[in-house]
Amino acid sequence: MIEILDVCKAYGSGNRALRDINITIGDGEFVFIMGRSGSGKTTLLRLLIKEEEPSSGEIIVNGIELQKMRRWQIPRYRRNFGIVFQDFRLLKDRNVFENVAFAQRVVGASSRAIRESVPEMLTLVGLSSKYKSLPQHLSGGEQQRVAIARALVNQPEILLADEPTGNLDYQNAVEIMDLLWDINQMGTTVVVVTHSQEIVDQMGGRVITLDRGRVIGDEIR
Ligand code: ADP
Ligand code: MG
Repeated sequence: MIEILDVCKAYGSGNRALRDINITIGDGEFVFIMGRSGSGKTTLLRLLIKEEEPSSGEIIVNGIELQKMRRWQIPRYRRNFGIVFQDFRLLKDRNVFENVAFAQRVVGASSRAIRESVPEMLTLVGLSSKYKSLPQHLSGGEQQRVAIARALVNQPEILLADEPTGNLDYQNAVEIMDLLWDINQMGTTVVVVTHSQEIVDQMGGRVITLDRGRVIGDEIR
């Protein structure tokens, strides 16, 4: 469970990115965080993975108060999360298999575990036949599938996606959203940040709306 309690975030410049945020996300939920550019969506995700600290308020994830966490505990804590970005962030000189395997190598997985999990993940995202391809030879939708496989290969409890369809055409966007939905159905908590009203209307579900750093809506559609 994610509990965000009275959280404010001001950046050094005095820019108040988040104001009095209160959000609770239960295990296994699928949640949209909706809002225009600059409304604080990415800041909220960065607070969750402890890339930024709140100026005030508290964040509790699975009972752990993030504020009290020691520096050395942060890498392990971050393994609770898989993260997907708008710009995919794949390694350009590595093939699809290696891009996914990389996430496992950095946490010290055995070659055997890698040989098992990578094909499993690529099958899940519908890319098993392209494991030898380089990212530049894939479509945007396919590249995002690789990024999703990489985000999930260490079996995180929570998937955070920051504008995952921002670089995709509508058809590919819908397919990526369907994939995220399937992943949620398999038990992963999924938090999707978007500024696309179209995508939210298409999918429905819980939608939290941010406007200039405040929550102005939290509803099931
Ligand atoms: P969104 O993801 O919804 O577009 P952000 O969380 O990126 O919004 O930004 C919210 C506000 O905080 C914006 O006004 C932005 O300019 C500001 N901001 C974001 N990151 C920083 C930073 N590292 N330093 C200063 N201001 C920032
Ligand atoms: Mg953003």
